[in-house]
Amino acid sequence: MTFGIDDLPVRDELRGKSPYGAPQLDVPVRLNTNENPYPLPEPLVERITERVRAAARDLNRYPDRDAVELRTQLAKYLTDTSGYEVGLPNVWAANGSNEVIQQLLQTFGGPGRTAIGFEPSYSMHALIARGTGTGWIPGPRNEDFAIDVEVAAQAIASQKPDVVFITTPNNPTGNAVPPGTVLALYEAAQAAKPSMVVVDEAYIEFSHGDSLLPLLEGRPNLVISRTMSKAFGAAGLRLGYLAAHPAVVDAVQLVRLPYHLSAVTQATALAALEHTDTLLKYVEQLKAERDRLVSELRTIGFQVVESDANFVQFGRFEDSHVAWEKILDRGVLVRDNGIPGWLRVSAGTPQENDAFLDAVRELKKEQS
Ligand code: PMP
Repeated sequence: MTFGIDDLPVRDELRGKSPYGAPQLDVPVRLNTNENPYPLPEPLVERITERVRAAARDLNRYPDRDAVELRTQLAKYLTDTSGYEVGLPNVWAANGSNEVIQQLLQTFGGPGRTAIGFEPSYSMHALIARGTGTGWIPGPRNEDFAIDVEVAAQAIASQKPDVVFITTPNNPTGNAVPPGTVLALYEAAQAAKPSMVVVDEAYIEFSHGDSLLPLLEGRPNLVISRTMSKAFGAAGLRLGYLAAHPAVVDAVQLVRLPYHLSAVTQATALAALEHTDTLLKYVEQLKAERDRLVSELRTIGFQVVESDANFVQFGRFEDSHVAWEKILDRGVLVRDNGIPGWLRVSAGTPQENDAFLDAVRELKKEQS
C-alpha cells in the first residue's frame, strides 16, 4: 500500500474525493471541454507578444493590484455589447471565472453557510462550495432540464441558501434560463434571506438571447459572472470577471489574494480585448455550426436539448458511457457528464463537426 491522500490529515470533506477533470486524451477530434476550436488570429498573437514584452520589463515589480486598465476595458466591452452601462467600479476580474466563483463563495458562503444550484449544471459550483466549506444544496430541474420557477422558488424559500447559482445558458445541457425565471428566483432569494444570486453567463455570447446585465439595475445582491475562456477563445489565458454593484466588488477584495492577476495575464487580456470584433466573428461561425449540429443530430434521430451555448446535449442512449466509448473509437472525444442517457458535444470547426456527425451516424446505424 502506498502512502496516499487519506493517510494525510486532510479535511474530512475531502476524503475519498477525486479532483475535477475531463480526460485530456490525444485524439484527432476533441469536442469535450467547450473550448473555442479556433486558435487566436496571428495579428492578435503579435499584439499579445508586444504587450507581454512591455510587461516583462516591469516584472521585478508587482502587477497593478486592482487591474484598473483591464477592468475598465472589460466594462467597456460589457457596455458595448449589452447597451447597459457598467464602469470600473462594477467590474472585478480574476484567474478564470472559477476563481471569480471561488472568491464569491469565500465572501458570501463559507462554514455554516449554504449555496444552491439547479442540477444538472456546472459541477464546479458544488466543488468550489466544498473547497470553501460552503454546504451544497442540489436544487431541482425538470425532465427537460428547464428550471420550474415554482419548484425552484420553493426550494429557495425552504432551504434559505446564502448563495443561489443560476447558469444561463446552462452547462452541460445548453438551454438558457428565461429572464423572468431569474427575476422570480432573485425575489425568492431576497424574501428568504436575503442571499446573493450569481448568474453564471460563461456562454452568453453564444446565446440567441441577450445578457441579463440590465437586471443589475437596482439589484445589489445580483452578480453576473463571465469569462474570456469561451467567446474570446482564450481558455489558456485564465481570465474571468464579474459585473455587479460596486459594493460587491469591494466585498470580494476582502478575500482576493494580493496581486492575484499577474502582469502577463493583464497584458494578454488587454491585447485580446483590442481584437474583440475579430473574435466575435468566430462566435458567429460557431453559433451557425452549433445550430447545424442541433438540426443534423435531430435528422439522424437523436433527441437534442435546445442550445444557446457552444455545445449540444444529445441522446438518448441506453448506456451513455458505452456510446461515448464507441464515438471515441472513431477518433472523436465528446463528454460524458454522467447524466444517464445523454452526451455533450462542443461545436468545433466545420471539419471536426463533420467527423463527429459521421461517427454518430454510424453509431445510430449500429444501434438500429
Ligand atoms: N462557468 C461555466 C458554466 C463553465 O462551463 C465554465 C467552464 N467550463 C466556467 C464557469 C469556468 O470557466 P473559466 O474558469 O475558464 O473562466
